[in-house]
Amino acid sequence: MVPTGELRRYLPRWENERHLPRCQAFCPTGIPVQKRWSLIRSGKMDEAIDLALTYTPFPATVCGYLCPNLCMANCTRQRSQLPPLDVAGLGKASLTARIPTPAPSSGKTVAIIGGGPAGLSAAWQLWMMGHAPVIYDVQERLGGKITATIPRSRIPDEIVDHELQRVQEQISNVLLKKPLSKK
Ligand code: SF4
Repeated sequence: MVPTGELRRYLPRWENERHLPRCQAFCPTGIPVQKRWSLIRSGKMDEAIDLALTYTPFPATVCGYLCPNLCMANCTRQRSQLPPLDVAGLGKASLTARIPTPAPSSGKTVAIIGGGPAGLSAAWQLWMMGHAPVIYDVQERLGGKITATIPRSRIPDEIVDHELQRVQEQISNVLLKKPLSKK
């Protein structure tokens, strides 16, 4: 509300994209949620679906199933009594996202200790930057908490398997059952 006349206190100023929108600020992965919807509004559905994969290797697992959808909880549409946009549905659609093209090879190899969500996310970002990550994990399977702890009642196996396979197709240097010591 901008009061006019004698009551006017503030001059409206267009500051689009100068500050983080609430949905993005509350997203633990920093996914630009408003940009996804903006792409959809411009008819760029595929780009909107692909976008999340440049922020996380698990867009369907996270946005579609495991995240409490903090972006939706903080959506400013609710101030106008409108429901938040369905980011969970968009996340589920990201299962078919196209793989981003990584930067040219830097020639650098980076060891990642732990193949859970954090390690795989770090490896994914390094791979996109053109580095060659090598993932070490003591377990028999990648995924950490996603595969070992979170009950399958919260997320179907095929979703997790699909997203883990997508990571492994890009990052082939994965050493499982590999305990590391200081020496
Ligand atoms: S569902 Fe969670 S991870 Fe996905 S954009 Fe929203 S806050 Fe971020």
